[in-house]
Amino acid sequence: MFNVSVWGSLELHIYPDAPAVVRALAPDEPVILNRKAAASRAARFFAEKFPGKSLYAVKANPSPDLLRVLWDAGITHYDVASIAEVRLVRATLPEAVLCFMHPVKTASAITEAYKVHGVRTFSLDTQEELEKILGATSDDAGNLAEDLRLCVRLRVSSEYSELSLASKFGIDLADAAPLLQATRQVADWLGICFHVGSQAMTPFAYVQALERVRAAIVDAAVTVDIIDVGGGFPSIYPGMEPPPLEDFFGAIHRASESLPISYSSELWCEPGRALCAEYNSLIVRVEKRRGDELYINDGAYGALFDAAHVGWRFPVKCLNAGRQGGEAEFSFYGPTCDDADYMKGPFTLPADIAAGDYIEIGMLGAYGAAMRTAFNGFGQGEVVEASDEPMASQYLGNRRDPRVSDNVVSLR
Ligand SMILES: *Cc1c(COP(=O)(O)O)cnc(C)c1O
Repeated sequence: MFNVSVWGSLELHIYPDAPAVVRALAPDEPVILNRKAAASRAARFFAEKFPGKSLYAVKANPSPDLLRVLWDAGITHYDVASIAEVRLVRATLPEAVLCFMHPVKTASAITEAYKVHGVRTFSLDTQEELEKILGATSDDAGNLAEDLRLCVRLRVSSEYSELSLASKFGIDLADAAPLLQATRQVADWLGICFHVGSQAMTPFAYVQALERVRAAIVDAAVTVDIIDVGGGFPSIYPGMEPPPLEDFFGAIHRASESLPISYSSELWCEPGRALCAEYNSLIVRVEKRRGDELYINDGAYGALFDAAHVGWRFPVKCLNAGRQGGEAEFSFYGPTCDDADYMKGPFTLPADIAAGDYIEIGMLGAYGAAMRTAFNGFGQGEVVEASDEPMASQYLGNRRDPRVSDNVVSLR
């Protein structure tokens, strides 16, 4: 795998594509493929085209290799949600700006983030969390920190997204004014943040959420320094073809321009999925076939958590050139002994696929590669680099005419 170059440094072998990996390794274990160019292209797209600052939501894929790719492509801010993520990003990217955007944190995590790692931005959705942040960041004499950037998380609807994030976090609009006012009193910068849910399928999700932000600002009559529209930017999966991201950026830009905030306030977003979905694919092997069920060597406890637990459909491709018996629909069983290790799909593959064949499963960079566990002794596979295109891309410039989907949005 590793070639020592004449300079003595480690040089990673780059494979042209998944079939080349199978030819070279005939892997017994699942193999993750990294596509740095795809992640870099996504990061440059956000850095250049989002009308504000883009924070990478680290939980989607915390791989240090990926973090360095995103940093090199212009992503300077990182949305972290645990002290382990704070430490990881700080160790990997010493100059990155870290924003601790989990609304429920432990006091010790806040203190370490603030005092050791230079974190100034925190989110909250209760008065108790505000008090916890103030206590955990004050100095030994009890003086309050004067450089806090505090974002109040507003609850918004997830109705336009494939995965809801509406029930766990966020203060209701009806209760937001006192918390916004109290936070304004102690924050250097006051922000309002929200999350429309993951894989938002229309820009209208953000427009509607920003209407709620407007109401919150008017109710509380506070000056706001940051509007953070969160994550939710979609990728492409079978049966889920969202409008181009330019449409989302345009709608967010227009809706945020009309908010009652000052010209100096900043617009932020926190993409996770959209920055890394295209970064990974996975090679699995069919170990057994039973009718239209394929027993593969990765699954619910590996990189295919979402395929099993929320029925997410990922693109698939048989890597054995000889298969031509037309197409058929299959479901998958993962390798563990658990009945729940089942992915109903359907996954469309050659009808004559058989045990021993390899399958590439695409678009697993977000909430895929990051979810692997060692349950039941599985999850050991290798990670390699590939130089071909991901199975689908939001960033190739060949998406449908933005004006068409704009019309759809304004009609809703
Ligand atoms: C998970 C999460 C994100 C990223 O969401 P995506 O749908 O992957 O873009 C952003 N912000 C917060 C607070 C999150 O919890």
